[in-house]
Amino acid sequence: MEEVIRSITDPELLSQIERVVPFHGYLSTGVFVGIQIYNIARRRLGFPEGERLFVTCETSSCMPDAFQVLGGCTIGNKGLRIENLGKMAATISRRAPRDAKRVNGIRIVLDPAKTATYPRLHSWYMNIDKVPHEVAISDLIRAEDGVYTWEMVDLEVPEKPEKRTAVCQSCGESFVLKADERICKSCPQRSKKSIEICSAGIR
Ligand SMILES: [Zn+2]
Repeated sequence: MEEVIRSITDPELLSQIERVVPFHGYLSTGVFVGIQIYNIARRRLGFPEGERLFVTCETSSCMPDAFQVLGGCTIGNKGLRIENLGKMAATISRRAPRDAKRVNGIRIVLDPAKTATYPRLHSWYMNIDKVPHEVAISDLIRAEDGVYTWEMVDLEVPEKPEKRTAVCQSCGESFVLKADERICKSCPQRSKKSIEICSAGIR
């Protein structure tokens, strides 16, 4: 892998890798795809590095970590949403101006029709063969934007619902209301679980 990283001449890309790797644990192909998708979005949407973004990732593995580090979007600040469709794709937008109902974004996907030009990368992507990360990544470095397809999208800015809380009549714990329910979500599950444990004990 060191050799692959040494072949990178773009200092910006190197600095991104340096920041993402300690967070993710190692340089995986998926996290590298995330870095490249982030860079395409940055050029197309024209935001500076370090700006906090909104990202919807269509996979939960590897890729989201690149956006957490480079785009400052996390589960906790609601900048990162995972819609796990098992796709190497992400939709990125900048923060919407105050009171805006819609915002411009970009959806970018690693395109199998384009990776087909790079047999080793394509084998990794289509899971045809076991391909080491350094091999798949060296193809991605050579291909640059050439293996991605993107389109501009018009996104709805979600409204912030009013937060209401209640104390559960069953367990006495406080929880955030979805509607006007009296019992928290975990209580029915908890009683179901204890029934399962009981019946397992009888057998
Ligand atoms: Zn409860």
